[in-house]
Amino acid sequence: MKKIMALIAAILLSWNCLPTNTISASKTSSHVNTQHISRHWKKSKDNIKFPILMYHSIAPTGNSLNVPIEQFREELSYLKRKHFYFLTPEEAYTVLKTNKKPRKNIVWVTLDDGYKNNFDALKNIHKNYKAKATVFDIINSQNASSFLSYYQIKALKESHIAIQNHTFHHLELNKLSNDKQIEEIDRAKNSLDIFLHQNTISMAYPAGRYNQTTPLIARDTGHKLAVTTNEGLASRDNGLLTLNRVRVNKGIGLQEFERIINHG
Ligand SMILES: [Zn+2]
Repeated sequence: MKKIMALIAAILLSWNCLPTNTISASKTSSHVNTQHISRHWKKSKDNIKFPILMYHSIAPTGNSLNVPIEQFREELSYLKRKHFYFLTPEEAYTVLKTNKKPRKNIVWVTLDDGYKNNFDALKNIHKNYKAKATVFDIINSQNASSFLSYYQIKALKESHIAIQNHTFHHLELNKLSNDKQIEEIDRAKNSLDIFLHQNTISMAYPAGRYNQTTPLIARDTGHKLAVTTNEGLASRDNGLLTLNRVRVNKGIGLQEFERIINHG
């Protein structure tokens, strides 16, 4: 029966064929069990600060946000060499909530929008660098040729890549009514929850834009964390629904990379 349901779901992909009321009906619990993750982690005296790296397209050219794959690999290799622990969204939540971490250096690698080139860039990073990463995916883009398909997303998820919410249409949330914001965020979360059989706990605000109500909507639709494009290291001082990130620009050398992961 499950297989038949999955097949029907796959046929409805184009995700946007799925009616909103069907999506909302299957909302999963937003509880995150942090205990099993953090049992051996060490508590810090001061509030933990760590880099949430922000990438987009992994390609030699593109808009101003692209990073060539050679640079991306060099940076992952550096993080591995320096014994960084790569966080999942659930682990990032645990760090922020409990102020405990697994080792000295931690990092959360994130890529926004779900560009198709992310597939080659990410599929072997766990094997090659013991790395994990998170793609903040725009649900409505999955039918567009330059973005990850549903099947690529499924495959990435099986390779230690978390797939999280970047809304349904990538509209700037600060310009939308509350109802429209709820629809954009909730519909995307529920699509991910259903198709990937998960509880999506984090989101990235499109273009980093949000207003006063956006973090409350993110919380009320079941998200534990939300990331912005505000520059700096992340800590619980930011607020868990308005976390800073560290933008990685094209062409920076390892010296500059080291500076930004340590200081934001
Ligand atoms: Zn985006």
